[in-house]
Amino acid sequence: MSTNEELFARAQRVIPGGVNSPVRAFRAVGGTPRFIRRAQGPHIWDAEGRKYIDYIGSWGPMILGHGHPAVLEAVQKAALDGFSFGAPTEREIELAEAIIGLVPSVEQVRLVSSGTEAGMSAIRLARGATGRSKIVKFEGCYHGHADALLVKAGSGLATFGHPTSAGVPPEVVQHTLVLEYNNVAQLEEAFAKHGPQIACVMIEPIAGNMNFVRASVPFMKRLRELCTAHGALLAFDEVMTGFRVALGGAQSVYARLIPGFRPDMSVFGKVIGGGMPLAAFGSTKDVMSQLAPLGPVYQAGTLSGNPVATACGLATLREISKPGFFDTLSARTRSLVEGLTAAARQAGVPMVGDSEGGMFGFFFSDALPQNYGVVMATDKERFNRFFHAMLDRGVYLAPALYEAGFVSAAHTGDEIVATVAAAAEALAAEAAAAPKRG
Ligand SMILES: *Cc1c(COP(=O)(O)O)cnc(C)c1O
Repeated sequence: MSTNEELFARAQRVIPGGVNSPVRAFRAVGGTPRFIRRAQGPHIWDAEGRKYIDYIGSWGPMILGHGHPAVLEAVQKAALDGFSFGAPTEREIELAEAIIGLVPSVEQVRLVSSGTEAGMSAIRLARGATGRSKIVKFEGCYHGHADALLVKAGSGLATFGHPTSAGVPPEVVQHTLVLEYNNVAQLEEAFAKHGPQIACVMIEPIAGNMNFVRASVPFMKRLRELCTAHGALLAFDEVMTGFRVALGGAQSVYARLIPGFRPDMSVFGKVIGGGMPLAAFGSTKDVMSQLAPLGPVYQAGTLSGNPVATACGLATLREISKPGFFDTLSARTRSLVEGLTAAARQAGVPMVGDSEGGMFGFFFSDALPQNYGVVMATDKERFNRFFHAMLDRGVYLAPALYEAGFVSAAHTGDEIVATVAAAAEALAAEAAAAPKRG
């Protein structure tokens, strides 16, 4: 049996950093990543046979837990019929119908293979449909790694951004405006200056790539008004929140708070693939008709609508559509966050947390952050110590303080109790070792 360290050393010889997606390398928290051998229900096992309660769930897709029997059966059956045809299938229609049935703002969808691809295609479609070039995004929101979206805020308010990655020429991001999340004044300023040129505003409505930060209701309301007034499309990136925070996604949460609310475009991924490479973007028929082969906006994919992936996604959507699914998942996730924050209070460690549906976040801080700057100013060292203390106790949390956590339907009360007990131990040790800073 190879140890995690042996595997990591071997991986680093043939794969840059030893991983195929950077956050897996544990750079933010330090230490050796766990190489996962298998998973079942709420648990994962590493190469050394150690068992963990999994709060990553493949970064969101595994909402039913690992190895759900109905999903497994659907995938096995689909695989026997063929892996990929490069021709249309009935299952693609079924999945499109299922998505449209659950998300009223979406009249048509196109299926793709990753959230990155979906976000990139949505931007191209928004630009093609409006005939405009500028796009707006918010600091701390991640929309995949397409060039135009890898942008950080420039200096000063409401300026065009700088590439966050080498290899992205400044000209490629010159049309991307980066604003502070939840900052109404900046939003108004940006529309006052650039309104007629803005093709779309893309936002994570509940941002899970800066831990867990909700767009405030006044902010979302104003964003909707400004987009409508200026003819810009409001694009919800629900790759993480879609079918995760509620059956109808974050947009259904905001529709409850803001009467008549709906975005113009939506981007999905993660849960709709149930762990297989599958994502989608959708909008009104009018906007979607701009896509090839109907319209002038080109977009395509060899494996788009893959028959095995769509079987996995459909089976997953079927399970989460069952009555009461989200009530139970939400209650369980809330009990986890309440348990963690209560344990912190008991230990005298400042911690706040929040959740919606099966997605949660917690911060070593006195108040919930409203934007990226505040998230990154929370206690990182404390988070990193807590992460490792939990990992040592068999609880696998996201290995960075700017990542959300995920609870699945396979997490029972037992796992929540065990997690909170581990947290109580870890936080008591933390309080003893690191007295509060003056
Ligand atoms: C994960 C994620 C993406 C990117 O999806 P990939 O499948 O990793 O390309 C885009 N947007 C959000 C909000 C995400 O959480």
